[in-house]
Amino acid sequence: MTEEEQIDRIRGHKARLGKKLVILGHHYQRESIIGVSDFVGDSFGLSASAASQKNAKHIIFCGVHFMAESARVLASPSQRVFQPNLTAGCPMADMADIDDVEVAWESIQQVLGSDAVIPITYMNSSADIKAFCGRNGGAVCTSSNAGRVFEWALDKGRKIIFFPDEHLGRNTANALGIPKRQQILWNPNLPNGGNSIEDIRNAVVTLWKGFCHVHTHYTVEHIREARKRYPNCKIVVHPECKDDVVAEADEAGSTSFICSYVEQAASGATILIATEVNLTTRLAHEYPDKTILPVSRSLCHNMYRINPGNLLYTLDNLGKVNEVFVDPEVLEGARLALQKMLELAQPID
Ligand code: SF4
Repeated sequence: MTEEEQIDRIRGHKARLGKKLVILGHHYQRESIIGVSDFVGDSFGLSASAASQKNAKHIIFCGVHFMAESARVLASPSQRVFQPNLTAGCPMADMADIDDVEVAWESIQQVLGSDAVIPITYMNSSADIKAFCGRNGGAVCTSSNAGRVFEWALDKGRKIIFFPDEHLGRNTANALGIPKRQQILWNPNLPNGGNSIEDIRNAVVTLWKGFCHVHTHYTVEHIREARKRYPNCKIVVHPECKDDVVAEADEAGSTSFICSYVEQAASGATILIATEVNLTTRLAHEYPDKTILPVSRSLCHNMYRINPGNLLYTLDNLGKVNEVFVDPEVLEGARLALQKMLELAQPID
């Protein structure tokens, strides 16, 4: 079957199922998937969209596994959630393993006592880690509202441990003016995360040693090279980039921020973007009156594992394949952490 034929059959299923079916497409998906998606957005925005579609019995999440899990957590019990390729995971989310997190938590509590630290996890984490944060009085955050969630924890006079992205955590701490000497890195492969007892006592923010290879691909040299080639350009980067890259850029912000930045830029503007290349390419097509280019090409191979073929297979066998399940106990804890985030700040999309 050609891709065109696959897309025609997907559209046929959509017409037949009407409002009973919702297809969600993350911003980093390929164009053919975006073209058949009912909603396009970031991971939180899409889960919230799914939860608001009360008539949808079947939710198909075209994105990586933690996103489909979050949709499962936020959906009602009568809704069923599917992911066209269950092997499409997120390497960064996998860097925070629940057993390692429990060990770290215990080690930190031995030094600081039981009420000193609030665990916060990025949306890009497994349901297990979200549930851990929910059970321990913590919260989830997105790259849009990480600052607000950090402030909430600090206002309570507590320290923070942040999973799983060192760089989003560091950029957020930097933006809040927390000195670098009070930010420590926790390497789960080393005793006490590789820190002295004194370091743990003095830290305001403990950052889990995880990263997104798509965003750490970008370097200061890439940014400087881009400025040489396009002297009048603006450079916008995602906060999963390293903090030296963020410091060299004109702006840093979430996927939603990047989309609005491009939308609001004047016609004729030149904007170079450091994030997943599918998003940059789509923005370039959407705004032909502006020059939108990647600072350098960086692709998320896991997002690319979703294609019209496996989406069609999921629809042809709807209800029988590729369903996403979350253990009921984990689901409750994860919901608590997500609800805490909702109470604190409404994400942009
Ligand atoms: S872009 Fe990075 S954080 Fe997002 S799914 Fe891919 S590896 Fe994970």
